[in-house]
Amino acid sequence: MQSLLRQILNDVQPLVGEGKVADYIPALANVDPNQFGIAIFSNDGELYEIGDSQVPFSIQSISKVFSLTLAIKHYGDTMWQRVGREPSGLPFNSLVQLEYENGIPRNPFINAGALVVSDMNQSRFATPHYAMREFVRKLSGNPELQTDHKVAESEYEFRYRNAAMAYLMQSYGNFENEVEDVLRSYFSSCALRMSCVDLAKAFSFLANKGFSNISGEQVITQEETRQVNALMATSGMYDEAGSFAFKVGVPGKSGVGGGVIAVVPNRFSVCVWSPALNSVGNSTAGVAALESMTKHIGWSVY
Ligand code: GLN
Repeated sequence: MQSLLRQILNDVQPLVGEGKVADYIPALANVDPNQFGIAIFSNDGELYEIGDSQVPFSIQSISKVFSLTLAIKHYGDTMWQRVGREPSGLPFNSLVQLEYENGIPRNPFINAGALVVSDMNQSRFATPHYAMREFVRKLSGNPELQTDHKVAESEYEFRYRNAAMAYLMQSYGNFENEVEDVLRSYFSSCALRMSCVDLAKAFSFLANKGFSNISGEQVITQEETRQVNALMATSGMYDEAGSFAFKVGVPGKSGVGGGVIAVVPNRFSVCVWSPALNSVGNSTAGVAALESMTKHIGWSVY
């Protein structure tokens, strides 16, 4: 595994820094684009890492998987009345489908879908972001995980697009709580800071039939685990989900902080981070690293 990581690093080195750091969230614009790290956490509890694997970064949309998992734990199958399971084929922050589809977002990993899922968690917890942070601290085994309040504030200040989606969904009756409260919870969860090591550990339950070796609990059922992985495979990489399946061939989820998490079912979870993004908002070097990884291990879910 360690030599696999060295090979990957070698393969993608020329791409590190290629692309653009997300700057529509001003507090993210100052991140050094030339960073790169990977961590792999195997189902038998081994950790492998290389590069900037312990540097915490803004997890952004990777948080959508944690929120979804929390919601599934409580709502089970009923949650699918409020959010769909189809890829959108549009940018992550698009509003256009909402009007055609009566305020039901296409899937939980576009922003509109994640906002509905946050609304569900808002109905259930008095302090939803803290509930979510506690959940993620347990899954990662890192009680020190912090929220970057500056990033959350900065997103709230420039919330217009996400606010527009949420109010549009509210107009269709697909929102239960105060939009502004849900936006704040959603941005705080996106603003969690985690390293590749934290994330690889926290996602290990998805590679291990829903059981976390870190927290020692069955997080969601085996069937629900399969469902979350299927959603990541079809919608986890936004408008690049198709070519990610084509080139990499495992479930993945990206965030505009430059992190990408991938799950190799029954084997390991892996997190790659490099802040410079391609045109759809996925880490350029991160996607390339995962492509190199599945090539080297000669394995994909397909
Ligand atoms: N917090 C970001 C937003 O709502 C998340 C986007 C992302 O990582 N793709 O715009």
